[in-house]
Amino acid sequence: MRKIQMVDLKSQYDKIKDTVNASIQEVLDTTTYINGPLVHEFQKDLEAYLGVKHVIPCANGTDALQIAMMGLDLKPGDEVITADFTFAATVEVIALLQLTPVLVDVDIVNMNISIEAIKKAITPKTKAIVPVHLFGRAANMEAIMAIAKEHNLYVIEDNAQAIGANCKFSDGTKKKAGTIGHVASTSFFPSKNLGCYGDGGAIFTNDDDLAHKIRGIVNHGMYVRYHHDVVGVNSRLDSIQAGVLKAKLPFLDEYGKARQNAARKYSVAFEGHKNIIAPSICDICDCHVFHQYTLRIIDGDRNGLMEHLLAKGIPCAIYYPIPLHSQKAYADARYKEEDFPVTNQLVKEVISLPMHTELDDEQIKFITDSVLEYFN
Ligand SMILES: *Cc1c(COP(=O)(O)O)cnc(C)c1O
Repeated sequence: MRKIQMVDLKSQYDKIKDTVNASIQEVLDTTTYINGPLVHEFQKDLEAYLGVKHVIPCANGTDALQIAMMGLDLKPGDEVITADFTFAATVEVIALLQLTPVLVDVDIVNMNISIEAIKKAITPKTKAIVPVHLFGRAANMEAIMAIAKEHNLYVIEDNAQAIGANCKFSDGTKKKAGTIGHVASTSFFPSKNLGCYGDGGAIFTNDDDLAHKIRGIVNHGMYVRYHHDVVGVNSRLDSIQAGVLKAKLPFLDEYGKARQNAARKYSVAFEGHKNIIAPSICDICDCHVFHQYTLRIIDGDRNGLMEHLLAKGIPCAIYYPIPLHSQKAYADARYKEEDFPVTNQLVKEVISLPMHTELDDEQIKFITDSVLEYFN
């Protein structure tokens, strides 16, 4: 059996080596390291793939979120609602911009921001909602957009984990996650579903004026060279990373299918187990692209399972072990423990198994057998 890895970037690279190397070589041969043609080509390819009017590449997914918020003219003290159960980058940029983060609980089934909790958290100071499509599963954008419309709020989708996933609407239509809110951000960190070989990120929007504004913000607030109209940042996707991404984008759907197939095999093996709640697999809508495959362990020793798996050479991880409202940097007297029952429960129950595009049946069987063996 091949060594099991949490994310196997080497086997994936071996299969696409020639295309990726050719892209990188093109940058080296033309010395177009910054803002070269490949950045523009990748941008156009991604706009077409997503069905969104504007993709604005930038340096990483955290910058992408920050720049998206800068584009919306939010003012210090404006309240921004986001999920308590997510990676810290989401709340970090809200705090950095001196906006007031309002962390709310998540849904026990899809682990995404709770619609009821959003409704309860809205005040006259609320200006935006930041749903995170956590672990690759699309949040309930139809409900979120309806709340936003009713209260005149911006929606900024943090799509770092779910590029390629679909959001379903009750009229039967589907749209790609990251194309529904006023603006969205993504990350091309190597282990993300569309990863480059360094740092990278992008902002998406269908709004022409906002896109124009953001294109200036990423470039020191310049719209005309050496004329700085707004306070900006320096946040660029370099051409080598764009080359890697342009080479990998045509495989994104195939990669999503490979992740879903692995997830299906995992979930079939765990079905009906009294201690394991496995993610449900939806066969038709691609609403989950399995950035992570995350189990909940109930009435069982999650940490003991983790030690058991690690001892057998199976990598696994806890995403995320501490709710954001309990992190020193983001703790606040406004938060009450009873407002976060689901997050407080999930941080004790979740465990993520290896998930990537190169898992084979032998590896999956060894992993599922090892999990089941622990509870025998
Ligand atoms: C990875 C990630 C980010 C940040 O992306 P970077 O490219 O690492 O800056 C933001 N939000 C979420 C939910 C993420 O998973």
